[in-house]
Amino acid sequence: MPNLDDASRGSAYLDWAATTPMRPEAVEAMLPFLTDRFGNPAGGHAVSREARKALDGARDTVAACLGARPAEVVFTGSGTEADNLAIAGARAVRPGPTVCSAVEHHAVLHTCTSLGDSRVASVGPDGVVDLERLGELLDESVSVVSVMLANNEVGTIEPLAEVAALVRARAPQAVLHTDAVQAFSWLEVAALAVPADLVAVSAHKFGGPKGVGALVARQGVRVQPLIHGGGQESDRRSGTHNVAGIVAMAAAMRATVDEREATVARVARLRDRLADGLLAAVPDCIETGDRSTKIAGNCHMSFEGVESESLLVLLDAAGVYASAGSACASGAVDPSHVLAAMGVPRDRALGSLRLSLGTGTSDADVDLALEVVPAAVERLRSG
Ligand code: PLP
Repeated sequence: MPNLDDASRGSAYLDWAATTPMRPEAVEAMLPFLTDRFGNPAGGHAVSREARKALDGARDTVAACLGARPAEVVFTGSGTEADNLAIAGARAVRPGPTVCSAVEHHAVLHTCTSLGDSRVASVGPDGVVDLERLGELLDESVSVVSVMLANNEVGTIEPLAEVAALVRARAPQAVLHTDAVQAFSWLEVAALAVPADLVAVSAHKFGGPKGVGALVARQGVRVQPLIHGGGQESDRRSGTHNVAGIVAMAAAMRATVDEREATVARVARLRDRLADGLLAAVPDCIETGDRSTKIAGNCHMSFEGVESESLLVLLDAAGVYASAGSACASGAVDPSHVLAAMGVPRDRALGSLRLSLGTGTSDADVDLALEVVPAAVERLRSG
């Protein structure tokens, strides 16, 4: 068994679904707006006009990458804020029950529950929303339906076109929101999100900075602002623009879209080698979900007789940086709501591991994980 405490092997960052390093294109685009070109785009003089021009250019890029019109893009302070604005903002315009899938990120789930009168559609064992159940929850009173494009924990791709068809047939007044935060790196969001009225993304998941996101609110789809003030973003989101962050997000988006096809092919191969390697090396290791309906960067496993928290500590010490879905709330470890919704037994859910790959993942990262993870699981099982 390899020595888990030998740090000389280097490290492998396999938590790209949590956040990504900034792309060089994004850093380069951002720097001038942190220094010389610091203007407030709301002003009228030359320094402001320069910032406004950059903001307009970024809006055009973001719109093109999301299949939207520039006027439909609302810049926000995060993916969380974009989800909140979509759901709470649309519901404020037309009150009524909200409907979302059981595997949504908490930015969606908690927003829906905080508004009251929320309905949650179950998912199948593969994490895909149960369309029959979703259909039963829809009626003319529903205000907002939210189903993500790709899941952050297990990587499942949701059938948005089918969801949209159901919504238009059974809840024609409702607006359809999709959280595309995890999808953007891997899927052609500009095409896939066409049936949605509202689309949320977050820059730090695809090589942009943290604390910047965007919501597409299609023409004619109104959202009441959550943040009131100077009326920026056509009165949908007040606050002086984070010009540097927005410009960097646009640069990261453009690079992501330009390289997406090649990245997906390369990373899917790495992910498959990682997943197949773990399945072969670790007894009683179960892969979560159906790989053919998952984004390329997700490898999610559970190991019988192992606690995620202990596994993550060993992996961290051995230079493999990953995460698990379980959250430690008030002393008790709860299985993730995503795995629970998929019907994964509690014991198995508490022994799960998410290894997420990205643009910078290499064969060496996979080699290290394939060396360290089986050894760590074995140590925990024998300890
Ligand atoms: N939605 C999904 C699916 C996510 O994975 C995340 C981040 O983990 C968010 C929303 C929230 O985005 P942000 O970190 O920008 O608030």
